[in-house]
Amino acid sequence: GCGICVRKCPFSAITIINLPTNLESQITHRYSANSFKLHRLPVPRPGNVLGLVGTNGIGKSTALKILGGKLKPNLGQWEKEREHSWEDIIKHYRGSELQNYFKKLLEDNLQAVVKPQYVDQLPRAIKGPEKTVRAILEKQAQLPNLDEILDTLELRHILDREVSHLSGGELQRFAIGLTSVQKKDIYMFDEMSSYLDVKQRLSAARLIRGLSKHDNYIIVVEHDLSVLDYLSDYICCLYGKPAAYGVVTLPHSTREGINIFLDGYEPTENLRFRDESLTFRLAESTEDYMADKTRAFKYPKMQKTLGDFRLSIDAGDFTDSEIIVMMGENGTGKTTFCRMLAGALKPDGKTTVPEMKISMKPQTITPKFEGTVRQLFFKKIKAAFLSPSFQTDVVKPLKLEDFIDQEVKHLSGGELQRVAIVLALGLPADIYLIDEPSAYLDSEQRIIAARVIKRFIMNAKKTAFIVEHDFIMATYLADRVIVFDGKPGIDAHANTPESLLTGCNTFLKNLDVTFRRDPTNYRPRINKLNSQLDQEQKATGNYFFLE
Ligand code: ADP
Ligand code: ADP
Ligand code: MG
Ligand code: MG
Repeated sequence: GCGICVRKCPFSAITIINLPTNLESQITHRYSANSFKLHRLPVPRPGNVLGLVGTNGIGKSTALKILGGKLKPNLGQWEKEREHSWEDIIKHYRGSELQNYFKKLLEDNLQAVVKPQYVDQLPRAIKGPEKTVRAILEKQAQLPNLDEILDTLELRHILDREVSHLSGGELQRFAIGLTSVQKKDIYMFDEMSSYLDVKQRLSAARLIRGLSKHDNYIIVVEHDLSVLDYLSDYICCLYGKPAAYGVVTLPHSTREGINIFLDGYEPTENLRFRDESLTFRLAESTEDYMADKTRAFKYPKMQKTLGDFRLSIDAGDFTDSEIIVMMGENGTGKTTFCRMLAGALKPDGKTTVPEMKISMKPQTITPKFEGTVRQLFFKKIKAAFLSPSFQTDVVKPLKLEDFIDQEVKHLSGGELQRVAIVLALGLPADIYLIDEPSAYLDSEQRIIAARVIKRFIMNAKKTAFIVEHDFIMATYLADRVIVFDGKPGIDAHANTPESLLTGCNTFLKNLDVTFRRDPTNYRPRINKLNSQLDQEQKATGNYFFLE
């Protein structure tokens, strides 16, 4: 592999064009000989929310463990017998903000709590006699905010359920609540938005910001860039080579930090760490993709009853070369609608969905396939997989070569998600239904996946229906949107497809949140609640801007 490469590195997911020369003297931690190295550390500041952004496997969770006092940094000295003392470590950081931080951590015995990254593992980690959401929360509650948390995180209706019976989104909200009821000096949230819809992400972000006090520390790791933007007071980026080494940048303002991450260039060090910058404007002009309006499809007004849940769908139409994004809270029937379009569920009564050739990426991916990723592609999508244009447009950008010969059963969540996207796009179809493509992907992979999907649909002159809760991805992908509203799990309604602008306005108005755009890379940014812009935009009904 490569340590420091000057040109495109065949072993690296990203290209490191130049690296700071003094990195070897700035090793914070190395797990063992030839294993992952973390260089430098993010700098927590009291009374502020520090955001961390960077690709998977770059050392974010490692940094959290060190800053939370759970992992003693070895400064690259991984041999047990030559371990550094805490005095050495504090001396190592003398003159920097980290010296004060570690001194306080040790002398004042600062207590940290972490919302773990993998909430799916939470049920097994719970050891005490308490099993229900209520019992566990009440046992841990040290702050007077339990009632508020139950409302904000919509936990009341699941209070008496056992934690082992919760769904992904319920587990995530429980984990955020469990972290936030404790009285600690350091709060860490390692990826809090997985499984949550936009409304739940915003509520959780407001709750987390509300934990901030002048003398406590909050650190968040987050891949949904609009949530990260909203949560953070300042940001450190991590770059490097996943699983080999990571480098932490100096702290930057939130806007600047996210723009540095997207740009792949750190100006204070004159350092380019990715050879392309990521923006939210299509490179191609949309005129290249004029849809053939004669190929219009229609679906009728439909109803679907599933147990206690009722979904009514307004009639709609769509053409080729079009992406329609479904926006709505969890439990409003987005997956149900996808399954109806796919013919897997029949509408109530005599209504029928026109038969169309559909390829679907389901929301949950459980690998049953015995064999490698390559074998799976040969079995399911051989023609596409052997096509040079599919390789260039889809397989290569999604960076599957690192694990193409691994067993499908051993893949991580982010790897499986990319395999599932390739499988869905590889099948010949008129309509592609893609349910939550950003789940398990880091922010860089999300942007790449969104671009791959968009290019594929436009070039192949097909239609896609996409469910997506990462608002930046959703608005990048969407030509039009279907807004789902109503009571989640009870009585919901899907509107007819409408323009991105009017759809986002309706959707955001329901959430009471306004967005502006960053002038450099066009990414949507959430306005702070009741800020001047927020009030102005609400007064004029402009919850969302296209330009
Ligand atoms: P991130 O949170 O950015 O995805 P992590 O900090 O979890 O990254 O991991 C960074 C790298 O360190 C990964 O390659 C991971 O496999 C490796 N790593 C994490 N924990 C250990 C450990 N206890 N021993 C050896 N390697 C580890
Ligand atoms: P979304 O994808 O918008 O989160 P879903 O379409 O998955 O929503 O589900 C909508 C509602 O329908 C949920 O409350 C879910 O529990 C319920 N539901 C889904 N499938 C069934 C079923 N087979 N029987 C009863 N209820 C169901
Ligand atoms: Mg991590
Ligand atoms: Mg769904």
